[in-house]
Amino acid sequence: MNNRKLTKKELQERRITEDKKYNRILLISFSILIVLTVSVLVFYTYWCDTKYAYRQYALYGKEIPVDLVCMSGDNLQIHESSPVIHDGKTYYFCSQNCCNRLRNHYRKVAFIPDSFSGDTICKADALIGLRNRGEPQVVYFKNKKTFSQYYEARR
Ligand SMILES: [Zn+2]
Repeated sequence: MNNRKLTKKELQERRITEDKKYNRILLISFSILIVLTVSVLVFYTYWCDTKYAYRQYALYGKEIPVDLVCMSGDNLQIHESSPVIHDGKTYYFCSQNCCNRLRNHYRKVAFIPDSFSGDTICKADALIGLRNRGEPQVVYFKNKKTFSQYYEARR
């Protein structure tokens, strides 16, 4: 009688321990799932911003690809800009508004002084670089020579 009772109690205790173990595994799995979901969301939400911030440092002193720049705002873009052909030359803009600005103020938008020599150049033919490290503003150069002279002078 006493022996049977003990066995019953033991069984009960074993079940409680197993339940506790099961609950702990469930809790850990659930936490991992939540952490993973949040990480993926954060990654996708901030990926572009992270890349954009990184480029403002990494591209300093280097030639910037034209499709990363808006030639109306003269700045680095988060997303690729679109080519617009005007007067036989290809310009890049971030939006329709910026593209319209070229059409309406052609001389003001398409031409700019070389940031080292001061010669007037067409943005479509220019080499593009960052004005300052860590900032999105860009500057334009007539050729590789003025391009490298600009960055050497600022070292
Ligand atoms: Zn723009």
